Amino acid sequence: MSEVVQSTSQIPLFALYPSLEPTLPRVPLCRLPTGVERAEKIEREAGTGPLYVKRDDQSAPEYGGNKARKLEWVLGCARQRGATRVLTFGGLGTNHGFATAFYAARLGMACELVLVDQPLTDAVRRRLLLHQAAGARLFYGRNIPQTALIALARLARHPRTRIIPAGGSSAWGTLGFVNAGLELAQQIEAGHVPEPARLYVACGTGGTAVGLALGLALARLRTQVVAVLVTDILAPSRPRLLRLARRTLALLRRAGAEIEDSAVELRIDLDDGFVGSGYGHPTPAGASAMGWAEQLGDLRLDGTYTGKALAALLARERGRDEPILFWNSYAARDPELVLPDWRSLPRSFHRFFREAV
Ligand SMILES: *Cc1c(COP(=O)(O)O)cnc(C)c1O
Repeated sequence: MSEVVQSTSQIPLFALYPSLEPTLPRVPLCRLPTGVERAEKIEREAGTGPLYVKRDDQSAPEYGGNKARKLEWVLGCARQRGATRVLTFGGLGTNHGFATAFYAARLGMACELVLVDQPLTDAVRRRLLLHQAAGARLFYGRNIPQTALIALARLARHPRTRIIPAGGSSAWGTLGFVNAGLELAQQIEAGHVPEPARLYVACGTGGTAVGLALGLALARLRTQVVAVLVTDILAPSRPRLLRLARRTLALLRRAGAEIEDSAVELRIDLDDGFVGSGYGHPTPAGASAMGWAEQLGDLRLDGTYTGKALAALLARERGRDEPILFWNSYAARDPELVLPDWRSLPRSFHRFFREAV
């Protein structure tokens, strides 16, 4: 694989807390830092303050987006614990499940995905084929109770399985975004981008938003993270986000970082006004934001996450003049894999294709 070797002193988390470097295992998957670009046309048309885009769509050479950043730490931990297999969850078209399958295979680990229903689109069907092409073994969980039962049965069968929570939002996965928040702080420090008043990011399981808020707080920035909720399935509440932040902080301290409580004043605003009818259901505002991004910003967004996040930014920032940042968490490009015929998927998935032909 094209592992990108980054000297560890360039990893902002280790630069800030050198004692973490020997204790926190990490596998390099990303190409960092990602760029920050000004989106002047969108800014002008929408009448917002200076608008910057963090290009996390390009976070990794083969498959970027926000999941690669989490998996550097999630898979690093799994490997250190001797896991030979990982199991995780998501909707049928889960980006997290795909990224996990793809990168686990690179590390020689088996991957099992237990999938729950989400609105069917051609992109979701294609993603099911991609899961299989990446080497994942697929299980149809349909709903959450049944998914939990399948996971327990798989774990009983293969005890050396590392269970990864949905979205990769364990404390380990969240570390990837503590590091990302510190990366942005370095770019601010270097003058590439002014300190944003608000940073907009899509929020599914919350690890991305929580990690960013923690990283920015550790860098003593005042930027507020606007976590734009995109899901109604096990949707994170503010207390749940704060709990994830505490667990991540505990992991950092256990690993040797000395962090004072005063350093972690989290600035998170959870905005639940843009979910529409639920996870994976497009909204008119999201679709319109995607059009703006494509025509004025040359950015390809998705309807499940980033379209809704940009819609929130456009609605809230019109007529304001402070600098703001849009965190583009969507990997618009899939790796080049040969797609299997749908008939090679487990039988329980065939219904999603039969209806379509
Ligand atoms: C998973 C995902 C998110 C949400 O990240 P969380 O850490 O689960 O909140 C945002 N954008 C995209 C494109 C994603 O795939």
